[in-house]
Amino acid sequence: MVCLRANNYIKIMNKKYFIFFGPPGSGKGTQAEMLDKRLKLVYISTGSLLRKEVHSGSALGRKVRPILKDGRLVGNKIIEKIVKDRLEKRDAFAGAIFDGFPRNKEQQEFLKRLLKELHFDEKKDKIYAIQVDVGDKEVKHRITRRRSCVCGQVYHLDYNPPKIEGKCNKCGKALFTREDDKADVIEHRLKIYHKRSQPLIKYWHDLGKLITVNGERKPKAIQISLVKKLKKLKAI
Ligand code: AMP
Repeated sequence: MVCLRANNYIKIMNKKYFIFFGPPGSGKGTQAEMLDKRLKLVYISTGSLLRKEVHSGSALGRKVRPILKDGRLVGNKIIEKIVKDRLEKRDAFAGAIFDGFPRNKEQQEFLKRLLKELHFDEKKDKIYAIQVDVGDKEVKHRITRRRSCVCGQVYHLDYNPPKIEGKCNKCGKALFTREDDKADVIEHRLKIYHKRSQPLIKYWHDLGKLITVNGERKPKAIQISLVKKLKKLKAI
């Protein structure tokens, strides 16, 4: 629980956390960002934060670049530091939306410990997992049509094209195809996703805190059904 003081008015707010699961190319990032716009929490995409490091040429970026390129998972210690640093910032006091984290059991355990440190209250605060369900065949088809920007924006040439061809709507920079969006790397990333994320999804399912949405629809339609489900559960 958090107290916000504005104009001598104290508002008690409950913390909210949402964890997005979905294979690469499922559109989970788009859904996570749409939900973030609505809820005004902090959006944490570990993949996007890592790509920023790669593009900036930092020491961390140089270290993780080959890992991202091959579609392997970056070491837990690096991921944990990135998430901790972000979650401890003041603007994250009301909660966060995770995209691409946690990716394995160790990261999930770390998240639970971290939330405890941040005074997550099991009774009053909320945490839900959201699974964006898309089949492997559709994933492979979609990813070849995906374009990204260094600022973190992601486009799809059919479902969510940029207003000006090849340019980012947000910052105007040139769009590119990610190094790990190649067919053989996708195959590998899908394998890792099924192996590592399925047990995590089952965990949230067994807790009664999993929401699954059919991701094989237009982004707006997916978001509408997601929000409906979240409201029904009184999660938002
Ligand atoms: P994403 O944008 O979520 O598909 O992530 C792109 C790449 O970043 C992944 O293939 C991994 O190499 C790395 N990555 C992102 N998030 C994590 C994480 N939580 N744990 C380990 N590696 C990650």
